[in-house]
Amino acid sequence: MRQVTSGAADVARGGSGGRVQVPAHFEYQRATSLDHALALLSRFGPEARVVAGGHSLIPMMKLRLAQPELLVDVNDLTELAGVRVEGGELRIGALTRHAELLASAVAGEHYPILHDAERVIADPVVRNRGTVGGSVCQADPSEDLSGVFAALRATAVIQGVDGERRVPLRKFFTGPYETAVGPAEVLVELRVPLRPGSGSAYVKVDRRAGDWAVAAAGAALWLAPGPGGVPVVADVGIGLTAVGARDFVAAEAEEHLRGRPAGDESFAAAGALAARHCRPAADQRGPVDYKRHLAGELTVRALRLAARRAGRPGLRGTV
Ligand SMILES: Cc1cc2nc3c(=O)[nH]c(=O)nc-3n(C[C@H](O)[C@H](O)[C@H](O)COP(=O)(O)OP(=O)(O)OC[C@H]3O[C@@H](n4cnc5c(N)ncnc54)[C@H](O)[C@@H]3O)c2cc1C
Repeated sequence: MRQVTSGAADVARGGSGGRVQVPAHFEYQRATSLDHALALLSRFGPEARVVAGGHSLIPMMKLRLAQPELLVDVNDLTELAGVRVEGGELRIGALTRHAELLASAVAGEHYPILHDAERVIADPVVRNRGTVGGSVCQADPSEDLSGVFAALRATAVIQGVDGERRVPLRKFFTGPYETAVGPAEVLVELRVPLRPGSGSAYVKVDRRAGDWAVAAAGAALWLAPGPGGVPVVADVGIGLTAVGARDFVAAEAEEHLRGRPAGDESFAAAGALAARHCRPAADQRGPVDYKRHLAGELTVRALRLAARRAGRPGLRGTV
C-alpha cells in the first residue's frame, strides 16, 4: 500500500515565531523486500531516494539541498543488516547501524580500525540510527567510514534489478556526495577480505567529542616476516578523511611503504607523503597548513598503532 507523507510547501513559521525548516512535498513507501525497493526505485527513476537512518538525507531535504519525489524506506530489510564472516571476508550489511558495528566483536577482532572510527562518529543518538551504508552512500568528504573502508580496500556490493555488481571502494566515490550507486540500485553490503598479519587503526582530530573530523587517518597493514626478524609491509591501505585526498586514499604513501620495514623511519616518510599529496581546504575547522600537518602526523600515528596491533610491540613512539 502506498503511504503518502506530505511536507509543507515552503518554509513554515514555528509557534514561537522562529523559522522552522521542512522538506518539500515527497511521497514515502516502506519497502517490504529488496526486490520491492528496487522496483520502486526503477519506477520513479532518479527522483527516488533510499532512506536508511535518515540522519544525512532528512537534514538535506529540510535545507532543500535534496528534493526527492519519493523516499524508499529500507529499514524493514533486516537481511541488509549485520556483521559476519563468510567466504574469507568480513561482510557488513549496508543497514548495519553504527552502534551495531561498534558492538560487533567479530569486526573488532579482525579490523579494530572499525571500532576506532565508530567510537568517534557523532553521538549515541546518531549511532543508534545511522547506518554504515548511509554513511558511505552520502559520500561526504568528512565521513569517517569512507576513509576507513578505503584503507581496508573494501568492496561494495550493489544490487540492481538486473543483478549484483561489485565495486572496489576506491572506485565507489565519483565526487563529493556522489557514488557509483545508480538511481535504481541499492548498496547491499561492504566486504573486506581477511588476510593474515593484519593490523589496523583510525585516529581523528575533532574540535569537540562527536564532531566531524578536522582531519583523520586510517591505516591497515599486512605484515610479512622480513630479514633479521623485522617484519616488512606486504600490503598497506591508508585512508584520509576531510583533507581532500583523492578517493580518500594516500596513494603515494602506500606506494612508498610497500616492501619496506614496518618501522618508524618508513612511517615518517609515509606521513610526509600523505601530507604533501592531500588537498585540504580552509574552513571553520582550520587553515590548510594545519590540516596538512594533521594529515601527516595522524598517518604516522595510525601506522604505528596498526603495526603494534599486527603483533609488533616495542616500536618507538606513542599514538
Ligand atoms: C549530529 C550529527 C553528527 C554527525 N557526526 C558525524 C561524524 O562525526 N562522522 C561521520 O562520519 N558522520 C557523522 N554524521 C553522519 C552520520 O554518520 C550519517 O548521517 C549517517 O550515518 C548516514 O547514514 P543514514 O543511515 O542516516 O543515511 P541516510 O540519511 O538515510 O542516507 C544518506 C544517503 O545515502 C543513501 N543511502 C542510504 N542507504 C543506502 C543504501 N543501502 N543504498 C543506496 N543508497 C543509500 C540515501 O539515499 C542518501 O542519499 C553525523 C550526523 C549527525 C546528524
